[in-house]
Amino acid sequence: MKITNIKTIITAPAKLNLVIVKIETSEPGLYGLGCATFAWRSLAVQAVLDNYLKPFLTGKDPQRIEDIWQQCAASGYWRNGPELNNALSGIDMALWDIKGKLAGLPVYQLWGGKCREGALVYRHTGGSTPEEVEGQVRKYMEQGVMHLRCQIGGYGGGKSPLASPEGALPGQYFDPAAYARTTVELFAYLRKKLGPEVELLHDVHERLAPIDAVRLAKQLEPYRLFFLEDALAPEQGEWFRTLRGQCALPLAMGELFNHPLEWETLIKERLIDFIRVHVSQIGGVTPALKLARFCEQFGVRTAWHGPGDVSPVGHAANIHLDLAVPNFGIQEWGGFSPELEKVFPGCPKQKGAYVYLNGRPGWGIELNEQEAAKYPGIHEVPAWTQTRLPDGTSVRP
Ligand code: MG
Repeated sequence: MKITNIKTIITAPAKLNLVIVKIETSEPGLYGLGCATFAWRSLAVQAVLDNYLKPFLTGKDPQRIEDIWQQCAASGYWRNGPELNNALSGIDMALWDIKGKLAGLPVYQLWGGKCREGALVYRHTGGSTPEEVEGQVRKYMEQGVMHLRCQIGGYGGGKSPLASPEGALPGQYFDPAAYARTTVELFAYLRKKLGPEVELLHDVHERLAPIDAVRLAKQLEPYRLFFLEDALAPEQGEWFRTLRGQCALPLAMGELFNHPLEWETLIKERLIDFIRVHVSQIGGVTPALKLARFCEQFGVRTAWHGPGDVSPVGHAANIHLDLAVPNFGIQEWGGFSPELEKVFPGCPKQKGAYVYLNGRPGWGIELNEQEAAKYPGIHEVPAWTQTRLPDGTSVRP
């Protein structure tokens, strides 16, 4: 059996670029789908696939997944960047899809079978006032969802009392002090109003100076969060030791990670509780499965990144991992629009607190290429990443 063609498809049914890899084989009708979505650099990922990985892989045996992963990861000698890793993920996932279809089994069966029937999910809530956030939480609770991420005023929300200097450059301004203050007020309010049963989560999005993140975590500790996410930037990983020593708030980390060295110390020193990597960003399910097994040894649970800039193929792959690993924690879930479900028939389905797969071989999801073509990629400079402090200083988003 040989790989005969590799197609890269960019589609934006929900106004976010999704990058899908389709690997065709010499077996009539046998193909696989993978997610290579790096929404903000989709053309660069496509160029890696079309110009480098496609010529490298055409004619090779699609059944040799591990060998292909290892060869592709080093095929340009320099390695581990997000463009290469996402391209590699598209290949890797498509090969697992083919493997499952060949076996006539869902992919989780190839990894040891189910540890659970559905993946527990958390949903996002947000608003400009605590009352608004409470309303959204209650709406989800009525549907049976008991894990809610709560944000006030978006990432870094909270109105600043400080005016910017004259001539300040345009950008997405936020005030870390106002953000931290309003976030503590939000969780005090929510815990009082909603009682002890609902599980609350929060994403700092690395928007605080390290010591201010430590203080925020201590202030949030009494409200018993399920986890606090990205309290620190990846570059400030050493601060996790300080944070860990100061409070018993469960910590989630990793959506920006590309490389095993970024997570190794945090896991083996038990400095975090949930690994949050973006599966396509680390190179696909082959490295994600190894990471999950590594985490299992140290009592760290998985909480794969699951935002809108993961394709339904990538979400399906996340759910296969969620069902197969014993140390699954929770899955971030945003649901799919009718447009997305039409482009990707076979999407996983949420019922109450859980998401379920359809039991079909491979990932169990398809791509309707005619529908996908109705939503061409949108190639603009992203505005949301142009973040600044009140005095105009550029900071990470
Ligand atoms: Mg996040």
